[in-house]
Amino acid sequence: MKFGSFDDENKEYIIDTPLTPYPWINYLGVDNFFSIISNTAGGYCFYKDARLRRVTRYRYNNIPVDNNGRYFYIKDQDLIWSPGYKPVKNILDSYECRHGLGYTKIKSKKNDLICSQLFYVPLNYNGEVILINLENNSNRTRNIQFFSFIEFCLWDAFDDMTNFQRNLNIAEVEVIDSTVYHKTEYRERRNHYSFFYCNSSDFTGFDTDRDSFLGIYNGLEMPLTVLNGKSNNSICHGWYPIGSHHLNITLKPGEKKNIAFITGYVENTKKNKWEKPGIINKDIAKKMIDQYNTEEKIMHGFNELKRYWEKLLSRYQVKTEDEKVNRMVNIWNQYQCIVTYNLSRSASFFESGIGRGIGFRDTNQDLLGCLHNNPERVKERIFDVASTQFPDGSAYHQYQPLTKKGNNDVGSNFNDDPLWLVLAVISYLKETNDFDFLNIQIPFDNDPSNTTTLFEHIKKSIHHVINNLGPHNLPLIGRADWNDCLNLNTYSANPGESFQTTITKEGKVAESIMIAGMFVFIGKEYLRLCEKLNYTYEVEFVKEFINKMEKTIIKHGWDGEWYLRAYDDSGEKIGSNTCSEGKIFIESQGFCSMAEIGSDKNMPKKALDSVKKYLTTDYGIVLHYPAYTKYYLNLGEISSYPGGYKENGGIFCHNNPWIMIGETILGRGDNAFEYYKKICPAYVEERSELHKMEPYIYTQMIAGKEAFKPGEAKNSWLTGTAAWNFVAISQYILGIRPDYDGIIVDPCIPSSWKEFNVTRVFQGVTYEINVKNPDNKCKGIGSLKVDGKEIQGNIIPLFYDNKTHIVEAIIK
Ligand code: BGC
Repeated sequence: MKFGSFDDENKEYIIDTPLTPYPWINYLGVDNFFSIISNTAGGYCFYKDARLRRVTRYRYNNIPVDNNGRYFYIKDQDLIWSPGYKPVKNILDSYECRHGLGYTKIKSKKNDLICSQLFYVPLNYNGEVILINLENNSNRTRNIQFFSFIEFCLWDAFDDMTNFQRNLNIAEVEVIDSTVYHKTEYRERRNHYSFFYCNSSDFTGFDTDRDSFLGIYNGLEMPLTVLNGKSNNSICHGWYPIGSHHLNITLKPGEKKNIAFITGYVENTKKNKWEKPGIINKDIAKKMIDQYNTEEKIMHGFNELKRYWEKLLSRYQVKTEDEKVNRMVNIWNQYQCIVTYNLSRSASFFESGIGRGIGFRDTNQDLLGCLHNNPERVKERIFDVASTQFPDGSAYHQYQPLTKKGNNDVGSNFNDDPLWLVLAVISYLKETNDFDFLNIQIPFDNDPSNTTTLFEHIKKSIHHVINNLGPHNLPLIGRADWNDCLNLNTYSANPGESFQTTITKEGKVAESIMIAGMFVFIGKEYLRLCEKLNYTYEVEFVKEFINKMEKTIIKHGWDGEWYLRAYDDSGEKIGSNTCSEGKIFIESQGFCSMAEIGSDKNMPKKALDSVKKYLTTDYGIVLHYPAYTKYYLNLGEISSYPGGYKENGGIFCHNNPWIMIGETILGRGDNAFEYYKKICPAYVEERSELHKMEPYIYTQMIAGKEAFKPGEAKNSWLTGTAAWNFVAISQYILGIRPDYDGIIVDPCIPSSWKEFNVTRVFQGVTYEINVKNPDNKCKGIGSLKVDGKEIQGNIIPLFYDNKTHIVEAIIK
């Protein structure tokens, strides 16, 4: 069952009922100011850091989950309704929500009054702009009372929801005309405030004190003020600060009116804090208001935003015979990659925004999905993330975006972390050819007195693996590898302890075959880079370790039909046929087959056949099988989840693409594409009632075959799934892959496809690539022509002429 449809032309998903199986959200903002917005206008906004600079308030474990929001109330005589359905929830005569790229539109109708709302965050602007259009579609004059509502957060979102004995005394506001300024804590250490503005000449009153607006015993669905049809002009002193405008609007038959609202964030310098004692300096706010205080200005900014996205996405566009592939590759998968990259794992309805900051491994993988859109921005992130590495090559697992400092609470020793940086840097170099970056000095642990070049940073990463081998000469796992929940050194028996940070074992025994596979896959690329840079000694040194690691995996990491997953702290196998549960895991099958370990013995093929046999379900590939049915001290969090959920046998959409990529390396395009379709949102749309999450966005997890409800997804939006699926489809299935000296054309497609076209903008030059498949094969470029000239091999040479080049490839 569907709850809407794709509008590919406008790059929007149209939701046709407010009663989606879960609030379906979108993100506004691309620079520093971000908002979450659901299909009923729920959600919140923040500046840069969802924890430390929360602008509007969100209540955790809320009912429904997307309360609060930027809400509007219309009182039309005795009828009260909300144009976004919530909070009033009066049934609308019509409703449509369009989530687009960086904006959301909600249009509804009640009693012949039409209300359209446009929400977006303009480029280079620290605020959310809302344009309301009202239209009287009846033949009588209407007099309506229109109310707005937002609730301010007292900045630090964690403190805001815990420290009431202080917080209920500190709220302060100013109101000038139709602008509410929220200035809590500005009197002492903060130099920032927020504001809520309305441009309407029908403005007749306001409220800034929540209890005055709602009434102590009323909720958001029926504020007393709205019932009474009149604001109180309340000024909050402590308690709960809000911003609410009251407009008294008359609309003649057929008449239309528009209203602009802005929720903005302002930072002043210490010197310019005050206009006069106790009165905040509003210069910046006034300028911001002036930028978007008319319909015309708002529409201008909106068109700019549209062009911004158009340009970003234009760098990889595909045309295949499958419209779902086209819409995912051209629009939604790229969009999700960029949003995820911007926000990392901070704020969604599954990520609280008060927890982790930016994850080291997460961001290094996220950037793989948007390197082609915005390499300059990725460069900054690589710099930041490499700055949280330690001199021995290990790294902080997470850092805060506002301070850019590593989080001490989580610390280090997730032994896969260092390798992701190598993959990120190499991918960046291939996209940009910016080898100078390798010579830039970057600190260790953010200490400016201890710096080294970026190349040395990635060298340290590789050597960190070499320096941390266990009894079988496989990499020690540390606190965990990619699978945060496989905690082989924790042995925690006390509730409430963190599985990742409560370390009980010395960590000298438990080993990861996934890291081993990563080391070979990424290490081979590192070797290519060192060869290119003529670092002969390093090439010889590391080559030996890579060869040894391959042999070690073949000897100690192979279980007969698939690759093992790990050894625990007692040296027992994990992910082996000899285990009673958790016999086979996806991660090592993915990375070891991508690294082609034991290919002369057909190991990758056998491993991927086993994935098909044991791990594949209708809804995707599960993480391992069988799921653990009880808690194992030696395995940790993985066995704490009920079977089929999350890391315990759930379908982790993040690593399904590793299997797709492995399949393309084997040349099995039909298999790769089957896996692609299983978890790809556009194909899942038809079963939205089960899937529950947005049909335009990948989720982190879909419940596995042993779950109570297989196929039900959770944790949409902020997941490494976005990047890896984009890598799998764009670089391995469609097979257009950047390399140092050109663009590799190496598709591995479903055999039924006859042809497809890719437009790829690479280092400023456009390549129009047409691939034909006359013999219904999956893989193997037999002929390649660039601008009509036959080329040997399958690499398009680079041009530096800003022109468009025509590429014709034939699979033979
Ligand atoms: C984390 C990743 C981790 C994955 C699997 C996600 O929640 O952000 O870093 O690799 O879970 O455990």
